[in-house]
Amino acid sequence: MLERKCEFCGASIPKERLDILPQTKRCVTCAEKNGSDMVVKKSDIGMDSDTYKDLLGATRS
Ligand SMILES: [Zn+2]
Repeated sequence: MLERKCEFCGASIPKERLDILPQTKRCVTCAEKNGSDMVVKKSDIGMDSDTYKDLLGATRS
């Protein structure tokens, strides 16, 4: 149900990551490239910086 693929490289995103970052669109590898795994704890508020950057990227590209 929660299986999701990285929008950058197409790799499956591990369930453990989705448990922490339900909105993430990146696998761990791509997130680390962008330094966004640092914001994991902000997922408690519903929108983390990873998601925010994804939104910014979507509007810029
Ligand atoms: Zn990826």
